[in-house]
Amino acid sequence: MYAYKAVKQDFIPSDNIKVMMSKFTDMVNLAITVMIESNLTSRNSASKETYHKLTAYGMPSYYYPEAINKAVALVKTYRKRIRKKKKATIPHVNKGMLSTYYGFRIEEGNLLVPIANRQYAAIPLNKHTLEIISDVKVHSFVLSDCTLSLTIGREVASIECITTVGVDRNLRNATVGNEMHHEVYDLSDVVRIKQRYRKKKSNFHRNDRRIQKQIASKYGKRERNRVRQIIHTASTTIVKKAIENKEMIVLENIKGLSNITVKGDGNGHNFRFLLKNAFPYGMLASQIMYKGSWEGLPVIELTRKETRNTTMECSECGSMTRIEHDRILKCDSCGLEIDRDVNACINIARRVRARLIRALNGLPGEAVKQSKDVEQMAGSQIPTNI
Ligand SMILES: [Zn+2]
Repeated sequence: MYAYKAVKQDFIPSDNIKVMMSKFTDMVNLAITVMIESNLTSRNSASKETYHKLTAYGMPSYYYPEAINKAVALVKTYRKRIRKKKKATIPHVNKGMLSTYYGFRIEEGNLLVPIANRQYAAIPLNKHTLEIISDVKVHSFVLSDCTLSLTIGREVASIECITTVGVDRNLRNATVGNEMHHEVYDLSDVVRIKQRYRKKKSNFHRNDRRIQKQIASKYGKRERNRVRQIIHTASTTIVKKAIENKEMIVLENIKGLSNITVKGDGNGHNFRFLLKNAFPYGMLASQIMYKGSWEGLPVIELTRKETRNTTMECSECGSMTRIEHDRILKCDSCGLEIDRDVNACINIARRVRARLIRALNGLPGEAVKQSKDVEQMAGSQIPTNI
């Protein structure tokens, strides 16, 4: 299977690159306007209508397709929100950026960005980036305010898995395991950092919007970096262990978790903060996903239906448990006493095995719905020990 990932580094745009970035942004905005005015939906029709208009910016034509792609993606999200009757404003890109998937080269440690016909601007790549891209294909680059990001890809052999392992994400820890073993990753530092920075930010009383914004952005960056570091360490270990044990990683679906509490339902803002913003559930999932796929390890996300009751169902007999004390669950049918996180990850690990076997048996509907996962498993041995 083919795997993608991105490598980022800091970069300071020169003046001519800055001009290009703002022109590219204008191109995206023009394409958005055209798409919305003429009610275009497909990439093809958008391309037909906008291509000749984009020539007015005098940019190398390498940048046209990517500008149109960006516009199509933004308009798509906008229309989706309207369809779902959610609040939506016509998309508009404010920040300068520059991106293309062809026409650029990498030579002698530099990224050569096309600026005109056969003219290039050289951006030096740092040692770390060069080391990573040395044996992979670079598919595209994106320049933004202060970062340069390269999308790289490579062909990896799928790892043949013999069983599955579930990841149960909680506010202060992640529990990874199945019937045989489990590990608990303490992530309480993340919540502590988030709480501290939240407090810090709430203490700003400068009556100047501009300065307030600057300080918030400075602290926000620090907070993000510290949190990312913790999640990065945990996700790397999780993926490494799963590869060693030849276990397919299974994630629960936590969509809708943030709907548990909404503003004005009587719960305080501290409670809402803990539930919604205190832990980057999505960041942990996406890091596990891309790190797994980069090594050829299948990572599967349960559907919302499959996720239901993973916490409370007894992992031994399947009946409902009750809370004995603190985080310990007790099953009255079979007498099992178990930590709720361990119980959850066993359930998560098991449910995907049930699904894969259903898909293999070719039940109509199931197979279509899960074809992506089966594809992901191509080459993998299907686990049978349900
Ligand atoms: Zn039981």
